[in-house]
Amino acid sequence: MLRSILIYLSKAVWARNIMTKWSFSWRVASRFVAGDKQEDAINAIADLNSKGINATLDHLGENVTNLDEASAATQEIIEMLERIERARVVAGVSVKLSQIGILLSESLCEENLRKILEKAKELKNFVRIDMEDSPFTEVTLKLFRRMIQAGYKDTVGVVIQAYLYRSEEDVKRLMKEGARVRLCKGAYNEPPEIAFPEKSGVDQNFDQIVKILLDGALQNGSIKISPDGKIPPIPAIGTHDQKRIEYTKQYVDMIGLSKDALEFQMLYGIRRDLQEQLAKQGYPVRVYVPYGTEWYPYFVRRLAERPANLWFFLTNFVKK
Ligand SMILES: Cc1cc2nc3c(=O)[nH]c(=O)nc-3n(C[C@H](O)[C@H](O)[C@H](O)COP(=O)(O)OP(=O)(O)OC[C@H]3O[C@@H](n4cnc5c(N)ncnc54)[C@H](O)[C@@H]3O)c2cc1C
Repeated sequence: MLRSILIYLSKAVWARNIMTKWSFSWRVASRFVAGDKQEDAINAIADLNSKGINATLDHLGENVTNLDEASAATQEIIEMLERIERARVVAGVSVKLSQIGILLSESLCEENLRKILEKAKELKNFVRIDMEDSPFTEVTLKLFRRMIQAGYKDTVGVVIQAYLYRSEEDVKRLMKEGARVRLCKGAYNEPPEIAFPEKSGVDQNFDQIVKILLDGALQNGSIKISPDGKIPPIPAIGTHDQKRIEYTKQYVDMIGLSKDALEFQMLYGIRRDLQEQLAKQGYPVRVYVPYGTEWYPYFVRRLAERPANLWFFLTNFVKK
């Protein structure tokens, strides 16, 4: 219930207008967001890299309904790919289709995506297409496959959400195609007709999909993370849930998959202890580093994931 209300608020313009005016909102949000400038993001990545952790950079922004904003976001992501190269840090980028024009037109979005992928390919870097809520699932997979066919197989990956019933079949097909997949639980409100309503169902499905992904990695030749850390292996397990991580590690051992033929992914500011522990154990770890001024919806989704974050936020509100 609380989660649903917060996810509703993450999209409500009126709530955004109120909350972003409070300076303490940013104080709390800055736990999850590297900063508002490119430089802040690069510094955060350099810090992670010094601990043996790779990154994927997210220029915050979503649900863009204006052509100029979609073009500006595309340009910013291209610039960041160049900046990552110049700064010699180990990071790819993550993009949301609703940030680069999918709400305006599919062909415009495809064109913007292609520009980003072309730059990434030129720089031997990697782009992950984030998965947004279910109205975008089909078109995201469609554009992803179109990019694979267009020659970007080693440049682009996609995200699958364990809370959707359809995901098991999607992943089976993606493994036949040798696609690079990040698995996460899913961060939006979805109806019970299409998604597991209970956490236990999501967790069980997550483990089931982990098996398919790891078997798929083995069948696809155990492709390892690239030596420079930029191109990820086939499975990326995106969670902070220790039980899911332990399950993954056990299954990796059981089937004899090499540690560097998968990677764990986590969000900036969450379970740093676990990020460092896994990296020390020899697993590739990649942290999702968001930056930019459009932090409101991302931040409120992080509040929705953990009630303790909301209490922390409310305590700050009282102290302000
Ligand atoms: C790298 C990465 C990329 C992602 N990309 C997408 C995407 O493209 N599309 C999408 O829908 N979702 C995405 N997500 C979000 C994901 O779907 C979940 O909402 C989020 O990861 C929380 O789920 P969990 O697996 O950590 O498990 P949970 O069961 O929610 O949490 C397990 C434990 O992790 C810690 N934790 C989790 N969330 C928080 C938090 N906000 N604050 C503090 N501690 C926390 C707590 O200790 C908690 O007990 C991504 C997540 C990661 C890690």
